[in-house]
Amino acid sequence: TDLSKIRNFSIIAHIDHGKSTLADRLIQATGGLTEREMSEQVLDNMDIERERGITIKAQTVRLNYTAKNGETYELSLMDTPGHVDFAYEVSRSLAACEGALLVVDAAQGVEAQTLANVYQSIEHDHEIVPVINKIDLPAAEPERVKEEIEEIIGIPATGPWQEGGAVLASAKTGEGIEDILEALVARIPPPTGDRDAPLKAMLVDSWYDPYLGVVILVRVIDGVLKKGLAIKFMQNGTQHLVDRVGCMRPKIEQLEELGPGEIGFITAQIKEVADTAVGDTITTVKNPAAKALPGYKEVQSVVFCGLFPADAADFEKLRESIAKLRLNDASFTFEMETSAALGQGFRAGFLGLLHLEIIQERLTREYDLDLITTAPSVVYKIHLSKGETIELHNPADMPDVTQIASIDEPWIKATIYVPDEYLGPILKLCQDRRGIQKQLTYVAGRAQIIYELPLNEVVFDFYDRLKSISRGYASFDYEPIGHREGDLVKMEIMVNGDPVDALSMIVNRDAAETRGRHMCERLKDLIPRHLFKIPIQAAIGGKIIARETIGAMRKDVTAKCYGGDISRKKKLLEKQKKGKAKMREYGNVSIPQEAFIAALKMG
Ligand code: GDP
Ligand code: MG
Repeated sequence: TDLSKIRNFSIIAHIDHGKSTLADRLIQATGGLTEREMSEQVLDNMDIERERGITIKAQTVRLNYTAKNGETYELSLMDTPGHVDFAYEVSRSLAACEGALLVVDAAQGVEAQTLANVYQSIEHDHEIVPVINKIDLPAAEPERVKEEIEEIIGIPATGPWQEGGAVLASAKTGEGIEDILEALVARIPPPTGDRDAPLKAMLVDSWYDPYLGVVILVRVIDGVLKKGLAIKFMQNGTQHLVDRVGCMRPKIEQLEELGPGEIGFITAQIKEVADTAVGDTITTVKNPAAKALPGYKEVQSVVFCGLFPADAADFEKLRESIAKLRLNDASFTFEMETSAALGQGFRAGFLGLLHLEIIQERLTREYDLDLITTAPSVVYKIHLSKGETIELHNPADMPDVTQIASIDEPWIKATIYVPDEYLGPILKLCQDRRGIQKQLTYVAGRAQIIYELPLNEVVFDFYDRLKSISRGYASFDYEPIGHREGDLVKMEIMVNGDPVDALSMIVNRDAAETRGRHMCERLKDLIPRHLFKIPIQAAIGGKIIARETIGAMRKDVTAKCYGGDISRKKKLLEKQKKGKAKMREYGNVSIPQEAFIAALKMG
């Protein structure tokens, strides 16, 4: 293809501003799909994605558009993952493009993720075309939003779109769709590249397809990718034979080749997604490029938690399900873990909280598993007195206090947008979570707050609290800013004198007592009475900081229950047996599964 006729762009937006709907419209307008095929959103294809309105995996579609100047252009559209947990994938998708459509909701205006995404786009030197979407809404204020874009982001938006201003559109009614296509062609620069140079292609994404096997999305920089070519992954060092080359429209179409500037896919009989690293450089075995593309980095897990089957008999099923999920998502890690309280399970690592929730939800939903998830834990760096430093992923593995010199915990920079009236309670929430306020500014009746916060205070329920305090109006985004020393201790929960490993957690010393007391109170209500008294305690290094007691069951209650009619007694015993399956025997105390889940939920 003539390079001057290619346009590669991504779509960036805050969640729910209409990115996927708009993408579908563009596909429809350029003839990629019929009306009937459009009935379902094309670009978000996982159930969870559709329900939560987020894009997990980047998807790419090639469109042919004949512009008003009579020329036909080849547009590649990338729907980028909209969430910070997938920041590296976003960054690779952006690196594959020359420009971006910035979609902003005409009623909502600029939000936290609009900014996070647009800054990334600017870092990649993109030409940004702002689109104000949902102008059909009665609450739409396109003029105000245009000004907001100029004021907050600092890119032109107020002029007519033909002169570099924002395009007004409605992905719902179809208004403005053609203007968007014209603006793309006019404003986004074509790619550059050398067809005769050694092959250099970026591995943008990969996924497992039941028919094609592992499919790799690539952006060719220099050279040509063809069927039958022997290729090499420069970071990985592995070699493969290309057996298919093509693009998605969004239906799969096989092509002869992919040349410089083109985005498309290849297959090469690769077994697992884990064998392909996003950001890797693909070259040929025969005439390899001298240098790999910049920006490659290995993905690292940020949040860990234990995953256990609620019914111990489901362990094998859990193992198989996790292995299957991992076929398609190489960004989470797992290893076996044995807990005294929960039996056999796995310790899994995730890119962030949303990623954790998604995997957890898919296991529950798609694989029909009843799961117990332990409290999420961040990665601590523990400096031992001996001088060594270890990374701690599991509170259960914390070394004895006497061996620890200091502990560092990860921090984040959080950006929150919120209408004025909720500002007070949100500042208090951040303050309570050990936050350090860095900035507070007002734009158009809304506050932008920047806080530095320990990630450990955010992983429990920060996001839920934020949403409930602001009635859903606050938007939130964060980025990691490295580790800092913290005053952290391991808190253990003891039931009838024995520590329950699944409930131990690392907490800030000042917050330990409150957390411990909450946990004991909660467990007191959750664990049923037994024939004996059960003390529930929270302890730090053997020192009790909180205590509750569950009283013994009264004898006459049992007598009443079991007395009389024999068939009723049998039924009761039967029922008890069934209930037992869902109980965890701990020492001589039975803890119902719900107790774990409920206790872990509140952190
Ligand atoms: P994404 O999270 O940015 O991908 O947003 P979606 O495309 O999933 O859209 C979020 C919601 O906004 C959906 O309910 C859409 O139907 C709705 N929506 C998208 N575009 C428009 C529009 O132009 N007008 C109106 N009224 N609703 C829209
Ligand atoms: Mg979407």
